[in-house]
Amino acid sequence: MVQDKFDYIIIGAGAAGLMLAAAMDQDPFFASKKILLLEKQTTRTNDRTWSYWEKGSGLYDSLLTRQWEEIKFKGVNQVLIKNIQPYSYKTLRGQDFYTYHYQKLEESNIVRLRHEAVLSMEESENLVVVRTAAQTYTGSYVFNSHFTPPSPKEEKKHPLIQQHFVGWFIRAEKPIFQENVATFMDFSVPQKSNTRFMYVLPFSEHEGLVEYTLFSKDLLEFSEYEDGIEKYISEDLGCDSFEILEKEKGSIPMTAYNFYRRNTERVCHIGSAGGWTKPSTGFTFANSMKMTQRLIRLLKEGVSFTRLKQHSRHHFYDTLLLDILSKKNHLGRSIFEAMFKKRSPQMILAFLEEGTTVWQELAIIWACPKKPFLSALFKRLF
Ligand SMILES: Cc1cc2nc3c(=O)[nH]c(=O)nc-3n(C[C@H](O)[C@H](O)[C@H](O)COP(=O)(O)OP(=O)(O)OC[C@H]3O[C@@H](n4cnc5c(N)ncnc54)[C@H](O)[C@@H]3O)c2cc1C
Repeated sequence: MVQDKFDYIIIGAGAAGLMLAAAMDQDPFFASKKILLLEKQTTRTNDRTWSYWEKGSGLYDSLLTRQWEEIKFKGVNQVLIKNIQPYSYKTLRGQDFYTYHYQKLEESNIVRLRHEAVLSMEESENLVVVRTAAQTYTGSYVFNSHFTPPSPKEEKKHPLIQQHFVGWFIRAEKPIFQENVATFMDFSVPQKSNTRFMYVLPFSEHEGLVEYTLFSKDLLEFSEYEDGIEKYISEDLGCDSFEILEKEKGSIPMTAYNFYRRNTERVCHIGSAGGWTKPSTGFTFANSMKMTQRLIRLLKEGVSFTRLKQHSRHHFYDTLLLDILSKKNHLGRSIFEAMFKKRSPQMILAFLEEGTTVWQELAIIWACPKKPFLSALFKRLF
């Protein structure tokens, strides 16, 4: 077997792996480095749609399918349509993201992309050995985006639930979508003792993504998500004649487990594998852009990966919410409803992207039902 030596090896050319490879490729600091990007999938499909909020213009604006300045929240007793400026809610297709980055990497002098699945990784004092079926590579440092969930022992301290969903991209015969308003959460669907909501992204009056979503422990039969979507399109959107253009499904781990503790001096976990997924929402994309920049700074300053921690105050709030949802899953609707009723969407979005002051955070928590949070806090402290 040939041994090929690299300065950096990135495992996985998904969201985080491609963001990191691109950031290194564009930064003169890495101009003399040799970087290997290993991806097990040989072809890329439009396997996901990424949405995120951002103030003003951003890195991926040229790839956006659509952006909205208004979002809708629907609970049992209220329908709120709110302007979120200076934020916009942005969405892009996975396929466009992969194509954009793959084309850029073809021109790169320092990053080499190879389609091989990593089978094992072994760290020693000076290097990391990475094995695929075809090759053995060595890297001074490895960035790993291959996700492995917390073990049952680790999970005991931090409960794991899933954000799981199925979405249909549809084209309706009549205009059924309010084109300028993205439905962030519509809790009017039966909760069945869970936290269940619809998520709707309108691309035009006739076309949109309609997604049946849960924050809960157990996945459903595929037909249950689809029955939920069909019922919503028929009863809530008032449409019986439509075509399904594409489908997407996903299950995003929601846990406050400290993934960064898996980092060592030579191996850094990135993306969902590194805890870059916001535990209480499943949103990962925008945070991955920020964490990539932090990681680049850290590499330039020669600081250890073990310092790449998440924000501790916010981590604690996420822990409390997940404690509540894992024990009393039906409470999600009342928590989100109270929050959206009493606080501005700008404050909530800033809170969810961990950009608030302590006072704003207390104001958000104060808006939520107090008993479950106090009980979760009490259990965590004692
Ligand atoms: C359908 C779907 C929709 C989502 N929508 C949103 C959204 O709207 N907004 C948001 O913020 N987040 C969203 N997420 C969550 C999150 O942004 C994505 O999961 C995101 O892709 C995570 O990035 P990642 O780099 O950690 O993982 P991935 O993008 O999954 O990348 C990991 C890569 O590693 C490769 N790989 C795995 N094992 C190996 C191996 N052994 N060897 C080589 N390669 C390997 C995989 O093939 C993959 O390409 C969504 C997730 C899904 C599944």
